[in-house]
Amino acid sequence: MSRVAHPAGPRHGDVLPADHPPAAPDDLNALYPGIWPRGARRSGGVLTLGGVDVRDLAAEFGTPLYVCDEEDVRSRCREYLEAFGPDERVFYAAKAFCSRAMLRWVSSEGLGIDVCTGGELEVALSAGVPPEQITMHGNNKTLDELSRAVSAGVGHIVADSFEEIARLAYLTDSASPGGRSVPPGDPGPRGPGAPRVPTTKPSVLVRVTTGVEAHTHEFMATAHDDQKFGFSLASGAADEAVRRVIACPGLSFAGLHSHIGSQIFDTAGFEVAAHRVVELAVRIRDEHGIEIAELDLGGGFGIAYTEEDDAPEVKELAQSLRGIVDGQCRAAGLARPRLTVEPGRGIVGPSTVSLYTVGTVKDVDGLRTYVSVDGGMSDNIRTALYDASYACALASRASAAAPMLSRVVGRHCESGDIVVRHAYLPSDLVPGDLLAVPATGAYCRSLASNYNHVSRPAVVAVGAGAARAIVRRETLEDLLSLDVG
Ligand code: PLP
Repeated sequence: MSRVAHPAGPRHGDVLPADHPPAAPDDLNALYPGIWPRGARRSGGVLTLGGVDVRDLAAEFGTPLYVCDEEDVRSRCREYLEAFGPDERVFYAAKAFCSRAMLRWVSSEGLGIDVCTGGELEVALSAGVPPEQITMHGNNKTLDELSRAVSAGVGHIVADSFEEIARLAYLTDSASPGGRSVPPGDPGPRGPGAPRVPTTKPSVLVRVTTGVEAHTHEFMATAHDDQKFGFSLASGAADEAVRRVIACPGLSFAGLHSHIGSQIFDTAGFEVAAHRVVELAVRIRDEHGIEIAELDLGGGFGIAYTEEDDAPEVKELAQSLRGIVDGQCRAAGLARPRLTVEPGRGIVGPSTVSLYTVGTVKDVDGLRTYVSVDGGMSDNIRTALYDASYACALASRASAAAPMLSRVVGRHCESGDIVVRHAYLPSDLVPGDLLAVPATGAYCRSLASNYNHVSRPAVVAVGAGAARAIVRRETLEDLLSLDVG
């Protein structure tokens, strides 16, 4: 077996696909604008973010560090709102990165907030997000979580299972149309004897599984009913879920929800999904005499992680999605529902750069150079989990040295602990240099772990030459305080 065919990575089988690193870039110091935050510059060779020198950030806050350009986030919120227009709604999917400051920025720009657990809901409420601007998601919401969402008065609850519809029926003091008057096997701490919540009618969307799954450039439109989210259209479960919601006197049926995937670069998958959802909307009209008011097509809009990624413009995406919904509704003779989209990555992904300090530089005999940094899979699991690609640059200085094919790896006890699989870094790289990995705003801090008892990094907001922590770094004391045995 050749050494080239068997690099260390998340897969350890005998047969691995050949590893094809991209060609070296012309200029190692260039900041390709599609993948760096809008406030990223080089000043005297040093990377600055929001007008702040990364060396100062490292000195004040330590590394690894997530550095978030606030104005980048805000400008993307405005772009989405402008692109979709005043008649549609844009909700930020908080799972991408959820902190009070972030939710305040996004909410103050006019977006709603999408949460999928009680924890995310509490962050949104404590950030002062108006409850009616919150949509409650999740595929296994406990009675407690639903009770909190209902009593807080969230704008919409997305029903994902028959059990949840029964729990909502119970909470709103109505007999469950599924035949049970108490929530079936509710695992939440309140249990079936929990007090019911006096409420105005919660507005419910039914999440449907359209059989479409899309990621990046590809989508499949047949084989993806086999998953945990939503009610299947193909099996008739979605029709039955709508029936049960409509039959609940304490619930208000608002419409349908569909989310088809992530990091999507074209709208073909949305077209198929919208077609199938609109077919259901027609059946709802025919059976119940109700036209859906809301159609939520979820998130999943792709961003550029590397120069090779050709992410679509938000304006084009919005135009295309609106056209699809218009066309499908017109063809079906259905009044046009209000469209909602739920971008997470598209709002926060490009805003943030992960800053690391180089610890070791190890040349692996003719293959590549392994550059170990002071973070890794605990602050960015996406490379190990999804085989994600990232770019990387020497941040603390410019260099005219020749490019060196590198793999940026972390400090964890896993050979798959890779941050950037293929990076060209200057061959004069030394321990103590700072490296910057762009486009880490989404699903990095929110998926971070304490693997190997490493504390999770701080998140720092930068703008107008100033920096402030919005999530502080965890300390060893934080970790030890949980260990009560
Ligand atoms: N909406 C729903 C229901 C999701 O499950 C997700 C992601 O998993 C999103 C929105 C956000 O997706 P993205 O961050 O890719 O835009």
